[in-house]
Amino acid sequence: MNQKNIRVRFAPSPTGPLHIGGVRTALYNYLFAKKNGGKFILRIEDTDQTRFVPGAEDYILEAFDWCGIEFDEGVSKGGPFGPYKQSERKNLYKAYADELIAKGYAYYAFDTAEELAHLRKQYEAEKKTFTYNAAVRQNLNNSLALPAEKTQRLLDDKTPYVIRFKMPDDRMVRMNDLIRGAVEVNADVLDDKILFKSDGMPTYHLANVVDDHLMEISHVIRGEEWLPSMPLHILLYEAFGWEAPEFAHLPLLLKPDGKGKLSKRDGDRLGFPVFPLQWRDPKTGETTRGYREDGYFPEAFINMLALLGWNPGDEREIFSLDELAEVFSIERVGKSGSRFDPEKARWFNHQYMMKMDDEDLADLFLPVLVEKGYMTDRDFIVEVIGLVKDRAHFVHELWEQSDFFFKAPDEFDPKAVKKRWKTNSYDQINELKEVLTAIDDFSSENVEAVVKAWIEEKEYGLGAVLNAFRLVIVGALKGPHLFDIVALLGQEETLRRLEIGLHELGRKES
Ligand code: GLU
Repeated sequence: MNQKNIRVRFAPSPTGPLHIGGVRTALYNYLFAKKNGGKFILRIEDTDQTRFVPGAEDYILEAFDWCGIEFDEGVSKGGPFGPYKQSERKNLYKAYADELIAKGYAYYAFDTAEELAHLRKQYEAEKKTFTYNAAVRQNLNNSLALPAEKTQRLLDDKTPYVIRFKMPDDRMVRMNDLIRGAVEVNADVLDDKILFKSDGMPTYHLANVVDDHLMEISHVIRGEEWLPSMPLHILLYEAFGWEAPEFAHLPLLLKPDGKGKLSKRDGDRLGFPVFPLQWRDPKTGETTRGYREDGYFPEAFINMLALLGWNPGDEREIFSLDELAEVFSIERVGKSGSRFDPEKARWFNHQYMMKMDDEDLADLFLPVLVEKGYMTDRDFIVEVIGLVKDRAHFVHELWEQSDFFFKAPDEFDPKAVKKRWKTNSYDQINELKEVLTAIDDFSSENVEAVVKAWIEEKEYGLGAVLNAFRLVIVGALKGPHLFDIVALLGQEETLRRLEIGLHELGRKES
């Protein structure tokens, strides 16, 4: 295939929020296009009117916007193969269905929903499954079984019908999948799928194949759940006399534990999002969490998704979108499903936080501080971030790691007090106050050297003094290197906190 003609598409149905598995599918399409100098197209497949959910299309666009994934052509973008929304292409599909009927690859079926439901029940009663196929179609209400005049009369009378594909008898369909290699299916096991519905709309199968052809799609890269549709799609291309695109079916994202596909329920159960953005169900009003609102950086989210099913062939894990586009290849997409690991997702976000400039993190942290009511000097915030960011996975977690920089403790962790505020703590901290008052150079290194020398000279327990010191400064036994904290707080504030601590904790009676 000529490099210039590489065209791939992401073709979501707007039936609700986009699952992260869908985002990954789109990402792999995007990377494949970028890597090969091709085009990436967004097509909205909204022919199933019963499954349409308001807001879902905007959600999809907003999600890709947030991720930094851009389309070359598509809905909201335009392009030479539009319109890119199937409901706006509605009028063009019928002619293709008619063409298949004329060529003998499809037929009219007049069976009503009730008739088919009845048949299904009958089969079930005999512990069999009803399949609309070569074995039964001659006995049903369709243009293959009925005399031509009868069919014509039904059509003239505007009797509702669907158009079904006539699955060939005893035909081995041989296909190639770029991920799983050669695949073979006997058409006998397939049913006469509906191509065109009585509501005047094509089904997914017809619209998808027609559009992929008209939009000159070269590679169909999609989720594994569509693998069973591949033989039908191949047969449709054949029936139309069109060259089929290449296919690659991506393995599923699996639950973090147990078996099966990663679902929203797993996220609810284990506490992580399975959608890129928060989603509010327009019917129930129920809100579902998203990666964006949970505080993930889009770059970290994308990096994490890229590695769920693809690997670069070496140990590298951190890639920007551009770097991914350079190294991505379908050959390195695994055949088996990838287990989703929520801890790893957090790890990725942490890595991006560590990589980020403290100044930029300060911009993101500032609104959190404002909300908490603590506005301070920006340089101070930048310094604080430098000290605590290795302990946080998200910007919002910076607050619990650093609150004591912005306010003196208003309470002291009772467990820590019990364990670390000893009978001699009061006197030692009181004495420490004198030591600290006398220091001129309040840098971390100097304060540390002076305090440690004093402890040694007095033969106090190093751990005992430093833990009590931390307790009065922080209010708990958390935080970065104690002397970095006091140096940043400064001499005055440190002394003030010692005062408060002494007053609040008092002398512990032995
Ligand atoms: N509309 C289908 C979906 O929602 C597209 C499948 C395909 O890529 O062919 O997943």
